[in-house]
Amino acid sequence: MKTEQNKVLAIVLAGGKGKRMGAQVSKQYLELNGKPLLYYTLCAFEESIVQDVILVCGAGEEEYCGREIVSKYGLKKVKKIVPGGKERYDSVYEGLKAAKKTEIGRDADIVLIHDGARAFVTPEIIQRVAEMAEQKEACVVGMPVKDTVKVARDDLTIESTPDRTKMWQIQTPQAFRFHKIFDAYNRALEDKVQGITDDAMVWEYCYEAPVYLTEGDYSNIKVTTPEDMAFGDAILNQRKK
Ligand code: C5P
Repeated sequence: MKTEQNKVLAIVLAGGKGKRMGAQVSKQYLELNGKPLLYYTLCAFEESIVQDVILVCGAGEEEYCGREIVSKYGLKKVKKIVPGGKERYDSVYEGLKAAKKTEIGRDADIVLIHDGARAFVTPEIIQRVAEMAEQKEACVVGMPVKDTVKVARDDLTIESTPDRTKMWQIQTPQAFRFHKIFDAYNRALEDKVQGITDDAMVWEYCYEAPVYLTEGDYSNIKVTTPEDMAFGDAILNQRKK
């Protein structure tokens, strides 16, 4: 396994406000079984082949995260906590810059970018996507869609029905050769590219080389709306058995 020689780092994003959750606190701090969601996310990285983690949180939440999550649960791989930006891609960029200008990024070969709100990621998924990125330079986790997907017009009529057998729903981690995704982010932000919702889009904007897909898991959900907490609870209970 090459990942033993190569340095793999992770950027875990927890800088969003989670408005769709409708709660007072940001969704990554909501608790399941008495522990914050972000704890479960970081634990998966702690138990994985990743060497260093940079945690990106909301501006002003660095100390809280350090005390109430990283120190409290003894998460040794979190080497730096930095404030995020307005949009997800701004937060990713802050994480990448923080890696680049410190020891953490110096010998980094592969970087995994992960939504902190995907608390049910596993060390196995992390290893799979990291190894694939070592071979192919760019790899994202996803699953084939189960439902038929429609493209809608503004007036909510259906424009087309893409072939379901070719459709994947994309998850994170998304893994890349570190210096290449850093350069791609620099370029995309300089060019003010609009509508960036994941990291693969930034790669696609800059490079011809394809982004590969590897399977995640249907339980690797992004906790977004209140019903996801009940689903999350069920996933944790299932894993305890
Ligand atoms: O908003 P969305 O659900 O797409 O966010 C995905 C992940 O990105 C979440 O873990 C969220 O905390 C993070 N995020 C961030 N900074 C932002 C917006 C989102 O770190 N400005």
